[in-house]
Amino acid sequence: MPGLLEGKTALVLGVANRWSLAYAIAQALKRESADLILTFQGDRQRQGVEQLAEELSAAALPCDVTQEEELGLLAEAIKTRSGRLDAVVHSIAFAGKEDLSRPFVETSRGGFLLAQEVSAYSLVSVARAVAPLMAGGGSILTLSYLGATRVVPNYNVMGVAKAALEATVRYLASDLGPSGIRVNAISAGPVKTASARGVKDFSKVLDAVAERAPLRRNTEPAEVADTAVFLASDLARGVTGNVIFVDAGFQIMGL
Ligand code: NAD
Repeated sequence: MPGLLEGKTALVLGVANRWSLAYAIAQALKRESADLILTFQGDRQRQGVEQLAEELSAAALPCDVTQEEELGLLAEAIKTRSGRLDAVVHSIAFAGKEDLSRPFVETSRGGFLLAQEVSAYSLVSVARAVAPLMAGGGSILTLSYLGATRVVPNYNVMGVAKAALEATVRYLASDLGPSGIRVNAISAGPVKTASARGVKDFSKVLDAVAERAPLRRNTEPAEVADTAVFLASDLARGVTGNVIFVDAGFQIMGL
């Protein structure tokens, strides 16, 4: 049977290592026959991501989203290599460790702006760079978390950035919809990754989910990845501007 993404080219930003949600997503896109391009952030990640890309028969290109010119070069390189793009996965966030542990009220101006720039604004700049490559329509997908709308201890400045990210999804969906480009977010349950470890007492969040979520367990990266496949595929052709929860149901619970 042909894969759900046969004949489609997908760009995945945000693979740092095998534990990254972006890596699980890249694996699932590959399973469904997508032609894959991964990016790495700076020389420190180059070797590791190139190795993972090789295993997935994918290309690996540099992209630090705070460097506007790197986004331009990335779009140029994809145009030369593939001529077009059908799906883009934005799986990127960053905040200073001190802003994920001290009281939110103590967030510095610099820390607030950094989290917004990397975790929310970058979706705007990525969308602007890739939209010209999606002349036949396409799907842009980002990763959010419940902390966008509820207070989760220590998530702090990242929760505010995720709120901006989810609003960004809606504005981009409205802007790009007439061009056939869909924009959505997956709100994933907590998963132990390098970024998640930066949040103080993250393991307590995992314990609370396993205890209280309707499915009584935590989220598997592969579950997030399969929803990403759906959103990237034509099965989701009528879905845009949405935040889809893949969180074992945790977000519906009151007490
Ligand atoms: P991760 O650390 O594996 O991935 C974060 C990625 O962001 C890394 O690849 C890093 O290189 C990239 N990044 C940071 N700054 C960048 C920059 N300036 N330019 C380019 N790339 C940059 O962690 P993850 O948990 O897989 O995070 C991926 C996404 O999923 C993030 O948006 C995160 O907020 C979101 N998310 C994670 C969880 C969780 O519990 N792990 C839950 C919900 C949502």
